[in-house]
Order: sequence, then C-alpha cells, then structure tokens
Amino acid sequence: MSNETMVKYGLYIDGEMVAPSTGKWFDTTEPFSGTVWARIAKGAAEDADRAVESADAAFRAPEWRALTATQRGALLRRLGDLVRENADFLGAVEQRDNGKLITEVRGQVLNVAEWFYYYAGLADKVGGHVVPINKPGVFNYVKYEPLGVVAAITPWNSPLALTAWKLAPALAAGNTVVVKPSEYTSASLIELAKLATQAGLPPGVFNVVTGPGTEVGSALVAHPKTAKIAFTGGDAGGRAVSLAAAADFKPVTLELGGKSPNIVFEDADLDQAVLGVVSGIFGAAGQTCMAGSRLLVQSSIHDEVVDRLIGIVKSARIGDPSNPETQIGPIATRAQWQRILDYIEIAKSEGARCVAGGHALSGPGHGAGQFIAPTILTGVRNDMRIAQEEVFGPVLAVIPFDTEDDAIAIANDVRFGLAAGVWTRDLARALDCVDRIQAGTVWVNNYRSTSFTTPFGGMKHSGLGREGGVDAIKAYLQEKSVWMTPNPSRANPFVLG
Ligand code: NAD
Repeated sequence: MSNETMVKYGLYIDGEMVAPSTGKWFDTTEPFSGTVWARIAKGAAEDADRAVESADAAFRAPEWRALTATQRGALLRRLGDLVRENADFLGAVEQRDNGKLITEVRGQVLNVAEWFYYYAGLADKVGGHVVPINKPGVFNYVKYEPLGVVAAITPWNSPLALTAWKLAPALAAGNTVVVKPSEYTSASLIELAKLATQAGLPPGVFNVVTGPGTEVGSALVAHPKTAKIAFTGGDAGGRAVSLAAAADFKPVTLELGGKSPNIVFEDADLDQAVLGVVSGIFGAAGQTCMAGSRLLVQSSIHDEVVDRLIGIVKSARIGDPSNPETQIGPIATRAQWQRILDYIEIAKSEGARCVAGGHALSGPGHGAGQFIAPTILTGVRNDMRIAQEEVFGPVLAVIPFDTEDDAIAIANDVRFGLAAGVWTRDLARALDCVDRIQAGTVWVNNYRSTSFTTPFGGMKHSGLGREGGVDAIKAYLQEKSVWMTPNPSRANPFVLG
C-alpha cells in the first residue's frame, strides 16, 4: 500500500479530524500479515492541551451543560444505535489493528452499544437526596455534579470496549472526555469519535488524541484542567499515572493486570472445567487482563486435566483472525510476541516443563509469523516468575495443590487480585472460596464472563475502583451538600452553626 492510498487518521478534537501539531505520523500494522495499513497522527503535549481546552470549553457550554440528563441519555442511545449499525465496520477496523478474532471483536463491538444503552438509561436515574439533618430550621440536600474533563487512557487489547467502559458512564454523568488510545490500536477510536459527532454530541464533548503514552498520556494526567483519570493498562503505567495524578489530588480509576488463578477441584465437572481453563488462557491468545494464567489443579486429577488440555490445544485452529473458523489468532505486537517467548524461556530455566507449545509459529496460514503456539507449563511452583508476573499471552502455568487451604494460599500469594475461577460441584466449598479469594471477580463454574450490569476491577496491584454496574457512574460524579435556611436566626456569629 503506498503512502498516498493508505488510510490516514488525524487527531479528533472539537468535533473534527485534525493534523497533529508535530506534523508527524506513525504506522499502524496488521498483526496477522505484518503489513502497515494506516497512518496515525503522532500527537504531543501541545495536542493534549488543545483537546483538553476543547473539552473544558464544551463542559461549560450550554450545548452540553444545559442538556437535561434525559437528553444526554438520548444522545448516548443514538451513539449506541450507530455503533450497532456500524458493528461490522468497527469490528473489521479493530480486528485489523489488534489481530483479535473477528468473532470475538464483533461480539465486543455489539457489547459496546449495550454499554451506551445501559448508561443512557442510568443518566436520569442518579438522583441526590434530602438529608434528615440534626439541626432545626435548616434544610439540607445532597446533589451529584459531574467532575469536568475526564482523561481516559486505554490499552491495545480491547480498545473500543475498554474505552466504552469509561466513556459511557462519564458522558452519562455530564462530563466531557479526552481519550488517549494505545499507540498500537488507535484507528477504531477515531471511527467511534466520528460516530459520536454523527450522533449529535456537541464538538469537544469527546476528543481523541493519539500518540505515545509518556508524552500524550502524561500530558493529559498532568493537565491542570483534567479532573479525573480513568486508566486501563499495565501496572507500571498505572503506577506512573497514579503518582502523577496524586500531585494534583486527582481521582483515578485504575484497571491493571492480573495473574489470575483458575482453581479446579477433583469433584468438578471436568468436561466443563477443562473448557473453562482453555477459554481463560487461550481465548484472545491470552492477551486479556483477566487471563486465567495459573491453573491450580487438585493433585489427584492433575495428569488427567493436563492430558485433556494438551488434546484440546493440539487441535486448535490457529491462523487468520479474520476467518470466523479460527480459534487462536496472532499476538498484537512484535514486542509482545518476543516478551512471551522470553517468559517461556525464563520458566524453563526455572525448572518448569513445557508439555505443549513453547515456541513461535510461522509458515503457511500463519501470516507474518507473529504467533505463539498455545503453551502449557507443568512443574510450576508459585514462587517462580512465570507464576508471579503477567505474561499477557497464551501461556498456562500449572500448579498442583492438595487441599482447599493450599489452593487458597497459592491463589492469594501473588501481588495481583483481578479475577479467579473456581470449579467444583460442592456449593459450600464454592462459597467458601469466593469469600477467601482476593480478587475483584470470582467466576464459579464459568470463566471470562463480563457484563455492563456488574462491576469489574481489581484488588491489590490489579487496580483501584470498578467499572460497570450502577455504582460506576458515581466514579464520574461528585457530591455537593447544600444547606438552606429559610428563616435565618443566628444569634452568635463566633460559634459554629
Ligand atoms: P500499557 O500500560 O503499556 O499502556 C496502556 C496505555 O497507557 C497506553 O495508551 C499507553 O500509551 C499509556 N501509557 C503508558 N505509560 C503511560 C504513562 N506513563 N502515562 C500515561 N499514559 C501511559 O498497557 P498495554 O501494554 O497497552 O496493555 C496491556 C496491559 O493492560 C496488561 O497489563 C493488561 O493486564 C492491562 N489491561 C487491564 C484491563 C483491566 O480491565 N484490568 C483490561 C485490559 C488490559
């Protein structure tokens, strides 16, 4: 593709696509074929400033500020409709950019519409309340107000979905937003911004600034006019964002990584448990924050479970993610591909045994060869790096346990706390595990289920705050307590009223 015919995505500021102040552009590459398919604007701090100024002006302008919550909801519903109508197109753009299976991406895009519908419905249902105050002659009520300009920073694995998780509640609450997508997957966000304008969102309400995290992302976090930072990404980026935001006491929502345990007890329905383990670690080629990357399996069924897993991964259809029959797609970036291979070597050097995969895949059907064979490592101890660090790839670390107490101790002995799976037919044991596991989400006899109706987020180093569900809108609102005195009658101004 020549530079002249290639798609070019500018920044999206104030309701239109604009060139970056730097005059620089960078390539975005299709993970499967390895070809450059679009050029993305390389924004800088100056562009972040321009977008925040636009969002700040939009926040104060009557075109947005004077809308009722019901009217904001109507706009979000229209945006949801446009996402649905353009689902094939949006899915194709995103799939091209991050290499995820088209079947999964399309489902995610349809789900993005649902996020807009859900928070559209909630927009006019978050009321304040009158307080039965303990003082005579005064009337006190609490109202909710939007924060102002929200900066949303998102990763490459699910750009549209993870942006919608922030955008939908933030807009429903009446804020304006500047999104900084991953430099690897910016295109679908620009397409979403165009749809937002088409839906009738006033200019400046939703802006997108593309470019490097340490330049554009940092500038958004430090900008005096951003009121809140909603970040999804790795824990290193999350820590940098959190520390920088603290300098100005800005609230943050952090959705970070995980090293989630998928715990299989000997009384589980093994057919289902094995499928759940596969979906947990080999779905999205393991490039998902909620990956069940540690399989904790009761010793009595260890060999049987591992044999079944090997059987499934050996027959997995690995290849072109745009083919609906494909089950495992490529790794999104060359750097991530190398990182996964490095982790496999580290695991082997620590004594783990590779019983499936463990290598890259290339040749016919594997495009540019940015694939990793689904990998199963046995003989893993929980203190090994492969059991403690997030790989973000199709690599399963298998750790045996004897008793429920052992399983819980191993599950919790990690700095992350994003999610966990428990497979058992014993309801009392399941409930006990739910209580004892340190994770923001626990799936019992299922794995990787998510919904806009319920909170998602992490404990410990997996993050701060929750996205999804009714309460998530409160993360984009602040309370104001109002005191009204119909008949003022203060006698002594020198004592507290
Ligand atoms: P990343 O942390 O490298 O980047 C995420 C975003 O932050 C990108 O847009 C990047 O440009 C930006 N960024 C990086 N450093 C920054 C800084 N100092 N200041 C401001 N912005 C900065 O993550 P990634 O590699 O794109 O994504 C993979 C990570 O995301 C994994 O760790 C995964 O677990 C995590 N993730 C978490 C969830 C969740 O909901 N908990 C969901 C998806 C992905």
